[in-house]
Amino acid sequence: MSYQQEAVLRDGASIVIRSVGSGDKQGLREMFSRMSALSINHRFFGAKRELTDADLRWLDREDSRQSALVAVNCRGTCDRILGLGRYIVSDKKPDLAEIAFDVGDADQGRGIGTLLLDHLARNARSRGVTVFRALVEADNAQMLEVFARSGFPVHQQLDERIFRIDIPIAETDRFVSLAADRERRAAAQSLRAIFAPSSIAVIGASRTPNTIGRAILDNLVRDGYRGQIYPINPTAKELAGRPCFASVKDVGAPIDLAVIAIPAQHVEAVLLECASVGVRGVVVITAGFAEASADGRIIERRLRDIARAAGMRMVGPNCMGVLSTNPSVRMNATFSPIYPPAGSVSMVSQSGALGLAMLDHARSSELGIADFISIGNKTDVSVNDVLSYWHDDPNTRVIALYLESFGNPRSFARLAPQVAREKPIVAVKSGRSAAGTRAASSHSAALASLDVGIDALFAQTGVVRVDTLEQMLDVVALLSSQPVPAGPRVGVVTNAGGPGILLADACEAHGLALPRLTDATLAELRAILPAHAGLSNPIDMIAAAPPEHYEAVIEIVGRDPNVDSVVAIYVPPLVTNPEEVASAIARGAGKLPAHKPLATVFMSSKGTPELLSRGPRGRLPSYTFPENAALALASAVGYGAWRRKPIGNHWKPAAEHEQAIRARVRAWVAENPAKSWLPIEEIEALLALVGVRVATHRRSPPFPEAAAVAARELAFPVVLKAIAPGLLHKSDVGGVVVGLADANAVHEAARAMHAKLPALTGFIVQPQVPRGVEALVGMTYDPSLGPLLVTGIGGTAVELYKDVAFRVTPLTDVDAREMLDSLRGRALFDGFRGGPAADRDALIDVMLRIAALIELVPELVELDLNPVMVLPPGLGAIVVDARMRLQARA
Ligand code: ADP
Ligand code: MG
Repeated sequence: MSYQQEAVLRDGASIVIRSVGSGDKQGLREMFSRMSALSINHRFFGAKRELTDADLRWLDREDSRQSALVAVNCRGTCDRILGLGRYIVSDKKPDLAEIAFDVGDADQGRGIGTLLLDHLARNARSRGVTVFRALVEADNAQMLEVFARSGFPVHQQLDERIFRIDIPIAETDRFVSLAADRERRAAAQSLRAIFAPSSIAVIGASRTPNTIGRAILDNLVRDGYRGQIYPINPTAKELAGRPCFASVKDVGAPIDLAVIAIPAQHVEAVLLECASVGVRGVVVITAGFAEASADGRIIERRLRDIARAAGMRMVGPNCMGVLSTNPSVRMNATFSPIYPPAGSVSMVSQSGALGLAMLDHARSSELGIADFISIGNKTDVSVNDVLSYWHDDPNTRVIALYLESFGNPRSFARLAPQVAREKPIVAVKSGRSAAGTRAASSHSAALASLDVGIDALFAQTGVVRVDTLEQMLDVVALLSSQPVPAGPRVGVVTNAGGPGILLADACEAHGLALPRLTDATLAELRAILPAHAGLSNPIDMIAAAPPEHYEAVIEIVGRDPNVDSVVAIYVPPLVTNPEEVASAIARGAGKLPAHKPLATVFMSSKGTPELLSRGPRGRLPSYTFPENAALALASAVGYGAWRRKPIGNHWKPAAEHEQAIRARVRAWVAENPAKSWLPIEEIEALLALVGVRVATHRRSPPFPEAAAVAARELAFPVVLKAIAPGLLHKSDVGGVVVGLADANAVHEAARAMHAKLPALTGFIVQPQVPRGVEALVGMTYDPSLGPLLVTGIGGTAVELYKDVAFRVTPLTDVDAREMLDSLRGRALFDGFRGGPAADRDALIDVMLRIAALIELVPELVELDLNPVMVLPPGLGAIVVDARMRLQARA
């Protein structure tokens, strides 16, 4: 192999990374001679004074199992060797390679090792290696840093002062995200027939007024649908001035979309006809399927199968239709007479009735809508499909969701953040209060309340959660017309003190701030405002403030570097004309820096003057009360903060480990249909496959002598634990004794434990892990969202503190860090009150690995690692108690 690539070091120097050859012996000897004894001692060459011919003989051999690269200086002669990296593929495992580096002392810290690792990984990947393994002495900080900086999900294990570092080098996240992109585009493409059809058949159009089919036909005609309309009715000749067809088969022209509003018992036959003539999308308005009866559920499944087999997308059944204000479409294929103003907000509603309410509100508040869809039973087209479509739709700037349940929360969790990076998603999720009963046999389950899952899902995916339809419209009005604020600092301009204070309080309650303005800003304000105006933010321009003051002050405050957004409040006094103020505010908004939003509060009983929308910034969001403006701004600020966060990385096990895990789980579930809690050995095996460290143990029969014998196989001090049927929390009943210094102590403790717990069936002896911070990492099952990952302050008092955070999987390192930062007890990890500081990174690593296990094992219904003993920084984290329950999935 001959490899050569230019690269740039951290300090900007260019170097070349290339294959090494027998001609490099002299260069390597020179690099070696420049290395300190300490560096030499740090592996690869071993502790020696100079390189012998034998040491370099490998350079002459053709060996397909190994590959080596050197980093060479490119300035001048171009042959000073700065570093060497080499991997050798394992004899036994062709996907594992041992890797080692050497970098000359003077050149350490320039990023040479990291570059070599990166290039070696590319090379190794192409020959099927998935994991690099490095053995690094614990005091080799330079090398440990190389791995930490590599960007690969490094896993370290400390053994006798040597770190064994395993680095999965697969480009899995990237690969996964490319595949997800492709999938999203395909879904988006398939929905074009639904949202932008060139022709529509209305099946069930009727002569009788006030029928749904008739209403849809009339709405299409009245609201100016741009494409062909084909009314379908077996008995009518002509409807709404258009020729009628007995069936879609008689149309004789391509049909993009069929809207079906006929009695439920005929839907299946009609769907088959649609499939036979190549209809591309259908909207089934008809109700009476899965929501109505068990039979209905079966028929609904058949409808879906027909649609899927024909490559036809189906919306509904049990929905109120779709609408698009796109000027080249203008489709009101709903049975609602409301045609909202055209705009950039796209809405999806599960419930038909709420969908109607949303459209009605949109029209009365003049909120511009792009597309609207009511998805009903979501048998085929789901929220996820619709999100995919709007992600790519140029007319959609903001997405609003009204959801009752998630069809596939897993894929929502993957898709929503991709969409939310581009366009804000605002969701009303009902069901904050419903009480759910759940079996609380593990810590993780007991700690979850019904709503944490949705909150976690939305927080993690960047979805803005609101409680009511009104709040949704408030937030959407801001996001659809204004830039996303860069931060929480609000400048307030008002003509009345009271509302200014109300707004200030509401801002504070929502986590926004009213900063002090700069001296330069204050000087400018003083120059134009009367002496008795209030200049400390809120800027109180007093009641008589003329329109020009609004315009000028908005501009001045907007320029202030301490301000991220501006709110203009207007309370109409007798002396000014609201119309003039509105157009002055609109002009002022046009002078704001492009990245700063403006919201208005017009506390006028006459509503908001139309002129507010006539400025260079288009429609300005206007609120009747300060509280609404504060909530909308705070939501936008939260969204902006989410969008600025780095994307983060997942952890994924190597393919062969995945297979091994799946095989074990399948076998266990098949062989133990009745039992569901796993024995500790099985848990250990699964955790080992995802690389989570578990304290070793010995199991003994329930005799004190046997426990003492088992303990002798371990290093003292040890911990003794009881095994008993149905025993969940061992320490509750005296079933855990720590700090046993020798076999006699074990014998004695076991005797006492047996006396207390005559039902115990055996003992577990574990080496005592050094003191650390006790954390909980677990999983619980949310009835609507599926598995949730739980992390918190652990130990025997978890339920007492209830200091936990929840997230859905997949989980990134950014999510994991946020979870820890959200704990009240987070200071424990930094060494609170003289306690040991803890290896947060190791805990995060455990969280990511458990998240991957959760993704991989849908049979997992409960998991508690409590405690995960989080040792001082650099020393990792070790699970000392684990409980896991598996259940076959239907
Ligand atoms: P349970 O949760 O069933 O009561 P654990 O095995 O979690 O039992 O033990 C209870 C507590 O004992 C832990 O929270 C921890 O403080 C301590 N402990 C248990 N095992 C070990 C161990 N191997 N090393 C150090 N401390 C341990
Ligand atoms: Mg425990």
